[in-house]
Amino acid sequence: MRCKDFPTSFNYLQTLKLSVSSATEKSNQPHRVVIIGGGFGGLYAAIALRKANVGITLIDRRNFHLFQPLLYQVATGGLSPANIATPLRSILSRQKNCEVVLGEVSTIDVAAKMVIVGHNAFEYDSLVVAAGASHAYFGHDEWEPLAPGLKTIEDATNIRCRILAAFEAAEIEADPIKRAAWMTFLVVGGGPTGVELTGALSELAHHTLKHDYRNINPSDAKIILVNASDRVLMPYPEDLSAAAMESLESRNVEVMLDTKLTGVYPDFVVVETPQGVRQIPTKTTLWAAGVKASALGQQLAAASGEPADRTGRVIVQPDLSLALQPEIFVIGDMASSSHQTGKPLPGVASVAMQQGNYVADVIRRRLAGKPATAFHYRDYGSMATIGRGSAVAMFGKRRFSGIFAWLIWLFVHVLKLAKFENRVLVLLQWAWHYTTWNQAARLITQSSASVPKKT
Ligand SMILES: Cc1cc2nc3c(=O)[nH]c(=O)nc-3n(C[C@H](O)[C@H](O)[C@H](O)COP(=O)(O)OP(=O)(O)OC[C@H]3O[C@@H](n4cnc5c(N)ncnc54)[C@H](O)[C@@H]3O)c2cc1C
Repeated sequence: MRCKDFPTSFNYLQTLKLSVSSATEKSNQPHRVVIIGGGFGGLYAAIALRKANVGITLIDRRNFHLFQPLLYQVATGGLSPANIATPLRSILSRQKNCEVVLGEVSTIDVAAKMVIVGHNAFEYDSLVVAAGASHAYFGHDEWEPLAPGLKTIEDATNIRCRILAAFEAAEIEADPIKRAAWMTFLVVGGGPTGVELTGALSELAHHTLKHDYRNINPSDAKIILVNASDRVLMPYPEDLSAAAMESLESRNVEVMLDTKLTGVYPDFVVVETPQGVRQIPTKTTLWAAGVKASALGQQLAAASGEPADRTGRVIVQPDLSLALQPEIFVIGDMASSSHQTGKPLPGVASVAMQQGNYVADVIRRRLAGKPATAFHYRDYGSMATIGRGSAVAMFGKRRFSGIFAWLIWLFVHVLKLAKFENRVLVLLQWAWHYTTWNQAARLITQSSASVPKKT
């Protein structure tokens, strides 16, 4: 392992001396590739380098690779966290040229070519930065505790607890007005995550929980999707947006279009609708409206002199490297790469995976003294599900909605899970859920301190 103990009081010049001498000492060792992030971009880069004569260090603050597209199912009790998360060590256990480090990268020292994790420094010859994105609250960070977003396993279990605890609070609430607020679930953002979340919430309320309570009827739950634009699923063509909208409405989801959220409070939200300002009593507000690149992106941009876009994504060269530090590559949700279409590629898993494969190829080519061509994204299509038997999908000019799109969605998502074991388990659970409506993972696992209080 090319790791130096890095005391916090360490003199910076000494650090530089240390890394230079160490590079000379290790000149016989293979090219050192450090990868930050074991998500779609970082993991695919590591795997694509499995046959290369390089020494890879993959650093992640979590010890698992997370399949984010199915987080909403954990948040609504359909799947367990372990179904969509796979330990990185297990995925890479047979890849001898790759070691995994559990730790949070605090600094990238571009001058010394080191990545700092706690008291340790990792030297690199090539660096791949794939630390992903987090929620953006458009200047209202104070909303975050009241309207949690969905990005990590902890977010998903936190949301699951809030949803289930809200039904529990409603069950023992005598005041009908307060009970109605407990049974109102409001999701902000009509993109794929918001649509999937409201669709799944509706199934939970109308089917899964149907017979579970004695004092409330879970079907009375009000599920509201607030969307700032005039249609849901904006990146999709209008006919697919309309199909998704129809499907949501058939599931009793109230979709509020052209509606802007202006305030979030523990017992209500304030929205600006085309008809005027409205207060909506609710105890459960969920955020699916915006993302910003990992804070590491801002830091890297400042340290390397590279520009970042307004969401903090680092603007990269056509080969995904930095103009002034060509040994550093930024990929996935952290990168803003617009050379192909004139606008940045979307923050989706397939972009991150293809970029991971691509930078591995560039590193191999550089080592072989060969030139690399610019990254070219191949769009294999997009899809989003609304619920059982309902999804929208587009592949080039071909568009599908309904059950056929849903079957494609199901097949693709199972196939993309990291381990065979998870594919089988998820398929079995979906089959069970499909026939019984039972969502077994509807557990409140957090202490009462972390779920909404009864008023
Ligand atoms: C709820 C949800 C649903 C989605 N649905 C879809 C979908 O249906 N289809 C689709 O194509 N895309 C979907 N996406 C988007 C897709 O998941 C992302 O585009 C993709 O994960 C980006 O890959 P990445 O490698 O850039 O980042 P990530 O996959 O987010 O990986 C980043 C990794 O970096 C680690 N990390 C972050 N900071 C540090 C640090 N400082 N030190 C060490 N490690 C760090 C994280 O722990 C993480 O493992 C969805 C995303 C979400 C949140």
